[in-house]
Amino acid sequence: MSVPLIISASGVRGVVGEGLTPGIVVDLASAFGEMVGGDILVGYDTRTSNEMFKYAVFSGLLSVGCRVVDLGICPTPSLQLMVKETEADGGIAITGSHNPPEWNALKFVRKDGLFLFPEEGEKLISIYKKGFFKRVSWNSLGKVYKDSSAISRHIDKIMKMVDVETIRKKRFKVVIDACNGAGAVISPFLLEKLGCEVIRINCETDRAFPHLPEPVPANLGELCEKVKQTGADIGFAHDADADRLALVSNGGQALSEEYTLLVATRGVLQKSRGVVVTNICTSAAIDEIAAEFGCVVKRTRVGDIYVSRCMRDCKAVIGGEGNGGVIFPPMNYARDGITAIALILDFLARENISVSSVIDSLPSFFMYKKKISNSGIDFNGLKDRLISEFDSSQLNFLDGIKVWLEKGWVHIRASGTEPVIRIISEAKNRSEAEDIYNWALELLSNFGYSKSGI
Ligand code: MG
Repeated sequence: MSVPLIISASGVRGVVGEGLTPGIVVDLASAFGEMVGGDILVGYDTRTSNEMFKYAVFSGLLSVGCRVVDLGICPTPSLQLMVKETEADGGIAITGSHNPPEWNALKFVRKDGLFLFPEEGEKLISIYKKGFFKRVSWNSLGKVYKDSSAISRHIDKIMKMVDVETIRKKRFKVVIDACNGAGAVISPFLLEKLGCEVIRINCETDRAFPHLPEPVPANLGELCEKVKQTGADIGFAHDADADRLALVSNGGQALSEEYTLLVATRGVLQKSRGVVVTNICTSAAIDEIAAEFGCVVKRTRVGDIYVSRCMRDCKAVIGGEGNGGVIFPPMNYARDGITAIALILDFLARENISVSSVIDSLPSFFMYKKKISNSGIDFNGLKDRLISEFDSSQLNFLDGIKVWLEKGWVHIRASGTEPVIRIISEAKNRSEAEDIYNWALELLSNFGYSKSGI
């Protein structure tokens, strides 16, 4: 069965040749160009289909009179920063991000460097769905220019935000796994500038992904092995567009991607107190960390644009998502796995501690994250049942369904990026988190879930 195009707040994505075809990409780029106009920056990750899709994006943008600036292989956060700082009119990142290699997607960037707000995304899709665009005549067509400065601009800005000398003195030995994605063109070079001894694995942008690009422990075996073998201080892994970061501790243990934001948050709050923003299904450990500094955590719907927008509105000092996405406002209101590397090294250097000591000092928690097939679950029926059985203080329907039980919580939500239901449970230990997950599955089986799914 072919996978249809998925249109959500975080962009438009699909499987190449199934939901996502060059014709669709031309139309989406035409619609964005018509909506925004002017100078549009385009960057892309390294997946095979980008050789095809970048020309489709250029073609659509040029056809409606835009001037295109081709940034080449470029992490999404570098593109977002470049749009903001060069006062371009917008940007398009062509990247399937953490999705497997057969997927690809377009992420649309506003002139302030944030992704389109949901209402702007809806406007874009309505222009796209019309199916005809304001094409310009042959003598008004725009041109494609190249600019390779996004990476150095990003690195230079990061270097101004951390204590470079303290980091350099530590001479950290670091292994970086960029999954042969866009992070390979920036993170190893940033690490070198920070005085690290850099051991690169999977930093070849002309090769296929060596493992699935989602930076979760199951995909980090090679990185763990390399950290162990070389006695490195830390291992870093990106997804294909480097907006996400995962950590491997000294000793070679892959850490849940939840830890990236927790470690970065503690490091940032030590330097400057303020509001922390994250989404509804990030670990409750972040509330405990914020409380250590007398700070509060604001929770939003899932999706980085909701977190970014809330951070901007409440002048947060740090925020992000539990999937390894850290947002640091002095850089940009964008998930940025590259800046996250520098923030974490800054923290370790300042405190003169190892990653494993930091992890040991964090509040204990265990999260169970699973996907099940989205086979027509009756969410309304499920909500009615919960409302009749639970106190309203135990329920949250901001985005999907979150239920607090005695020993933890569970969140059930249809994914915006894949045709699945995501279930996340959290408790203080594995068996309690598993019990809560099983409770949720049992509950879902009364509302259309069949265990024959994935
Ligand atoms: Mg990504």
